[in-house]
Amino acid sequence: MQTRQVVFLTGAFSGASLWHMLTSSSSEESRTFESLNPATEQVIATVAEGNEIDVDRAVAAARRAFEGPWRTMRAAERGHVLLKWAELLRRHVDEIAELESLDAGKPIAAVLRQDIPAAIDTLTYYAGWADKISGEVVSTRDDALTYTVREPVGVVAAIVPWNFPLMIGMWKLAPALACGCTVVMKPAELTSLSALRIAELALEAGLPPGVLNIVTGPGRVVGDALVNHPDVDKVTFTGSPGVGRGIMRGAAGNFKRVSLELGGKSANVIFDDADLDAASKAAAAGIFFNAGQVCSAGSRVLVQETVYDDVVERLTTRAEALRIGDPADRATVLGPVISEKQMKSILDYVDIGQKEGALLTTGGRRVGDRGYFISPAVFANVKHEMRISQEEIFGPVVSVIKFRDEADALRIANGTAYSLAADKLAHERLVYDRNSEGILVVIFRKRPASNDRRAHGAERVWRNADQRYA
Ligand code: NAD
Repeated sequence: MQTRQVVFLTGAFSGASLWHMLTSSSSEESRTFESLNPATEQVIATVAEGNEIDVDRAVAAARRAFEGPWRTMRAAERGHVLLKWAELLRRHVDEIAELESLDAGKPIAAVLRQDIPAAIDTLTYYAGWADKISGEVVSTRDDALTYTVREPVGVVAAIVPWNFPLMIGMWKLAPALACGCTVVMKPAELTSLSALRIAELALEAGLPPGVLNIVTGPGRVVGDALVNHPDVDKVTFTGSPGVGRGIMRGAAGNFKRVSLELGGKSANVIFDDADLDAASKAAAAGIFFNAGQVCSAGSRVLVQETVYDDVVERLTTRAEALRIGDPADRATVLGPVISEKQMKSILDYVDIGQKEGALLTTGGRRVGDRGYFISPAVFANVKHEMRISQEEIFGPVVSVIKFRDEADALRIANGTAYSLAADKLAHERLVYDRNSEGILVVIFRKRPASNDRRAHGAERVWRNADQRYA
């Protein structure tokens, strides 16, 4: 059964005023929730609130489409449909960017520079893989032929966070669809709109009905129903570690495969031989991009004691120079954080840091009384054990921590429950280190002469979960 739910956009968005949600069914009770613009706190859309029945129907539609048109389609044709979808996204870049910026409060310049091109590139890349997925012939004995076949996993539940709704959503959709899987996607309830729009474009591109289903609604209802559904074969989740833990438990019910991409407390390490201006610039960008709401944000900056005060001063100056404001203004660098709840949580951490004895050199306050804007905060004199050094704040707050030597830097860098990414902002040696989780990698390499990101010795290493769909 294919019916549709309606999403009304009531705000100033210029692209459309009436939207349809691509799903396998409409919610029986037709409940809705509001989506706000975090920069103005105004309602920009009323979105259908899905429930367990919607999930059931969406999964059934995905199963039918998996066994029907999508899996059996020639792989090359599948690739063509995905490429056509990428082309349609390209044609609607401005509209989608505007939507993402309004819904998530992301500066439009960053969305146009990063989120949308990354989503389109991801889709184009995986579209190219559709007809190149093959097994191998394994050498065993002379009288036998042993070969492996890669088959699509089946129905995939994709659960997406709000910080990069489109880009992270596409990291899940593109490889799954290219492999011949079908998908039920649940966007974060704070940012449903870009997923709904790109799903419309997917239909227009020729994706058969049921291949991609979007069910909007709360995580504890829609997400939970997907995770526990007996006919879902895989869950791919990006979000907080607490929810990730619950997903592993739920997925155990029918031994679903699981990919988890969770939180971070990543360290940028600045040695005294780094170009301090360039290193401070990179460290500021590392934490303040997307208002610090990035899993791999450099929320800790480790600085060698001999240059500590110098770097704190540079970071403070850089934080104060950042342009905060209307995300629709292309000159804006720092938009609001996503919600009132998130804003309060970040401001609570600022209080906690001060009570723990860290020195707030700048920022950490609400800006204005409309919209969830927070001035970028720099904490100096942070001790490794403090909560602001150990817990993920997920906001524009950086903890600057002093270290003596390389061994000290590695001990501190690896000494959190989190581990996702690290930058090195120095030169000379290459060091590879793993903590007990086997994730964090810190590298120091020779400083090259040119003036690009590598020139100041910065190189990001990002370890994340494997995404396998075949
Ligand atoms: P979250 O865990 O609250 O929500 C993520 C998604 O899970 C949302 O769609 C939400 O509705 C859903 N969800 C919530 N409860 C659920 C449940 N019980 N069952 C199933 N689904 C449920 O995370 P968030 O606040 O949206 O995102 C911030 C977190 O995500 C941070 O910890 C951040 O570090 C992490 N993150 C990680 C990456 C990465 O690539 N590793 C990228 C972005 C964000």
